[in-house]
Formats: sequence, C-alpha cells, structure tokens
Amino acid sequence: MADRQPVPWRRIATEEAFLIPEVHDALRSWAAGADPDEPDQDFWGFVLTQDLPGLQRVRRQLLDTDDERLAIMDEHGVSVHLLSLTAPGVQTFGDAQAVELAALVNDRLAAIIARHPDRFAGLAAIAPQVPHAAAAEIERAMKTLRLNGVVINSHTRNEYLDEEKFWPIFEAAQALRVPIYIHPRSPSAQMAAPYRKYGLETGMYGFQAETGLHAIRLICSGVFDRFPDLKIVLGHLGEGIPFWLYRVDYMHPVRSSRNSRPKLQLTPGEYFKRNFAITTSGMNWHPALRFCIEAVGADNIMFAIDYPYQLTVGAVQFMDSAPIPDQDKHKIFHLNAERIFGIPAGAGIAAGTGTRPATG
Ligand code: MN
Repeated sequence: MADRQPVPWRRIATEEAFLIPEVHDALRSWAAGADPDEPDQDFWGFVLTQDLPGLQRVRRQLLDTDDERLAIMDEHGVSVHLLSLTAPGVQTFGDAQAVELAALVNDRLAAIIARHPDRFAGLAAIAPQVPHAAAAEIERAMKTLRLNGVVINSHTRNEYLDEEKFWPIFEAAQALRVPIYIHPRSPSAQMAAPYRKYGLETGMYGFQAETGLHAIRLICSGVFDRFPDLKIVLGHLGEGIPFWLYRVDYMHPVRSSRNSRPKLQLTPGEYFKRNFAITTSGMNWHPALRFCIEAVGADNIMFAIDYPYQLTVGAVQFMDSAPIPDQDKHKIFHLNAERIFGIPAGAGIAAGTGTRPATG
C-alpha cells in the first residue's frame, strides 16, 4: 500500500473496550446462570457465546490488543485507544472475585500500555460493590500503575452511585483528580421489564436510558456539592442529557422543593457543564454533535469509536467530515482527552505512520 496521507489532527479514541481471558471466562460462567437480580445475563450470554460471525469478530477483537487492533488503528489513523474493560466489567461478580479480577485487569492493562506507550492509555476497572476496596484500587491504579481514569458500568447490582455507601469511590477520585467514565449497561432490575418486549434494553435505547438516569440521579443527589471537583464522563454524546437540560433545569426547583429532597447549590445544567464531559461513542451524527457543541461546549466533548462494537472507519469519517471549525476538531479529537485523562500531548504517531509497518 502506498504511504498514507498525514492528517492534521491526532486522533485519541476514548471509549475502546478490551477483555482479558480470565474475565471473559468468568463472564461466560456468570451469563450461563439465571439470576433475576441481573437482567442483562442473557444479553451477555448472547454476546459471549453465539457463533454469529459479527460476535466472533467482537470477541476476537476484545481479547486482542497487540495485533489486529493496532493494524486497524494504523489503517484509519487513530493514534491512541483509551482502553476500558468491556461492560459489565466485574460488577456482576461476587465481592472477592470482583476485587481480585479488577486488580488483575489493571495489572494487565498497565502491561499493555507499557508495551505500546504511544498507542494506549487506560481506565481502571473497579469493584464498586466493595466501595473501600474500589477506592484503594483507584489509588493503586493511579499512583502505581499510572492509569488515566476509572470506568464504572452504570448500576452495580441494581444500585446507583448516588447512594452514600459508594462515596469513598468519589472521595478517592476527587482527591487524585481522576475522571470516572460511567459506561452503559442494560437497565437495572427495577426498570428492566418494559424494555424486553422489543429488545430495547440494548444500545438501541436502554443503555442510554439507564446511564442517563444514573447521571441525573448523581446531579440531583448533591454529589457535586460534596465533591465539586469530581469529573464524570458519559459516552453517546451524554446519553441524551444535553438535549434534556433545559427541561431538567425548568422542573428541578419544583421537584426538589418536595419533602426532604436535596437542595442544590447550582442548577442541574450548571453541574452538567462543570462536572461532566461527553464522548461521541456510537453517535456518528453531525446534527447531534453540533447541538452538543452549542449546548455544553467543544471543551467538554471527546472523540470515541466504541471499538470493537462499532466500526473505526465510520467514527473517523464522521469526525473528519464534521461541519465544525478546525479548532473544535482539535479539541474533540485530542486536546480535551489529553487534558481530562492526562494523556501526554503529542506522543505517538501522527496518523498513518505507526510503529507497525503498513499492511495490505
Ligand atoms: Mn462502549
């Protein structure tokens, strides 16, 4: 293949999934069960066991970090994947298994980054079901392993992070200035049933409904008055929240005046702009991108592919061709990720001149 054209922006992709064999096997065992408290067992059983070609590809690409993934990144001029353990992470496992596997994942992630320091950064897996162990793992992942943030796959055993028992996680994250990426999973058991009839519990709609609810709960709980420096990252252009902010702000004073609901120092929209950033994962749609730039600002938006669940080519073409100023493209493609996740500026390839020889 001829030399690839250099591109005028570094591309950092910020919601890129991977899996290690030990967690793959543990998830398959879990998904084979029938726990009514874990409504997405059958979804993950489908993803992890069915022999459809698309799912075989997804499993192969989740488990690979050194070969096919780098070739695809090179082919499409993606400099960096910010890696995160695929949903639902370790959050469905028993306490001891979850704590142990999270640490193993993070050790493995640090080794992957050490092998390819210019190509990968990583978000630490934690076991929120054991909040103090999760907080300790955040500290180890940041100070010892030098990872770039934390990933939590929305609810943990149907509980949300606004419950105070989880706040040691926020305490650690704020103290260490660590962003927490709240990645989707299917709606919790309390809200799962109405999604089932038409398969809506997936990325088609339910992931967004679950994760958007989670974020709004955090805002309305007063978490961001207690932890004003906490940074939460949401995928899928903010899981619908930017579009809804006006109405949330309009309704919130009335709703919060009832009973003993928390009184907030700021409006919900002010927290969203101060404490949240969003990524473009799986939302390759220019009208939505332009709206989000207007609603929350180009400084709060980052590029993401959602590899391997979404295709790299579509995400790159979407952002390359976005009808927005070049300075915003630089922010969304790399400057914001460098700032928010502490990814070293300028390291790594200019696209298309990777550490691997061109193939094909
Ligand atoms: Mn994802």
